[in-house]
Amino acid sequence: MLIAEIFHSLQGEGELTGTPSVFVRTSGCNLRCNWCDTPYASWNPEGKEMTVAEIASEVQKFPARHVILTGGEPMVAKGIRELAAELKKLGKHITIETAATISPGDIACDLASLSPKLKNSTPDAKLFGAWSGKHEKLRRQPEVVREWVEKYPYQLKFVVAKEEDVAEIQQIVSDVGVKIPPEKILLMPEGITIEALRAREPKLRAICEAHGYRYCHRLHIELFGNKRGT
Ligand code: SF4
Repeated sequence: MLIAEIFHSLQGEGELTGTPSVFVRTSGCNLRCNWCDTPYASWNPEGKEMTVAEIASEVQKFPARHVILTGGEPMVAKGIRELAAELKKLGKHITIETAATISPGDIACDLASLSPKLKNSTPDAKLFGAWSGKHEKLRRQPEVVREWVEKYPYQLKFVVAKEEDVAEIQQIVSDVGVKIPPEKILLMPEGITIEALRAREPKLRAICEAHGYRYCHRLHIELFGNKRGT
């Protein structure tokens, strides 16, 4: 499968924030978010072809027990199920970071980090006509989210750009149709600089306090900035 990068760092987002982890970033995505922070794995996919055995061997060079399968969209990568099964055999804890548009089937996974995309992600129709339409049609898949939520430990992570996004989040959660405790819903400020994150923090914190959602920081931006391999 096409791999954009494999590196060792601290998990920067979500319930496992701060956990030393190996990141396996597959290249290729079925969506095109206008604020995508890994365009080299979506808009302009780069990387090198690697076999499951080669990836597993690279992962084992690092001491971490935690492995993050991320992207791009890891669930579109050919061989992702075989890779997850192999990592499980090696005793790894597997987080899958996905936009939850593709059914998990029976993939090995210890934490499903689900990040359904909001309207704020849709690229401008005038600039990206075909992708805009495809993205808009695909981004909300409540049945798929439900399948992940029912099968795996999970967190639901939303990138929030403005206050109005909260109504859409509530609608998405309601469409999933199963009870999701508010503390399983993580709101992350949109932004790839520490200044942008800080500017959005006060309003987002107030929203979290009002609804019982969890505020989700981006530790890797705080520590390293928006750099590849971190
Ligand atoms: S789903 Fe993720 S990788 Fe794909 S375009 Fe959106 S932010 Fe980028």
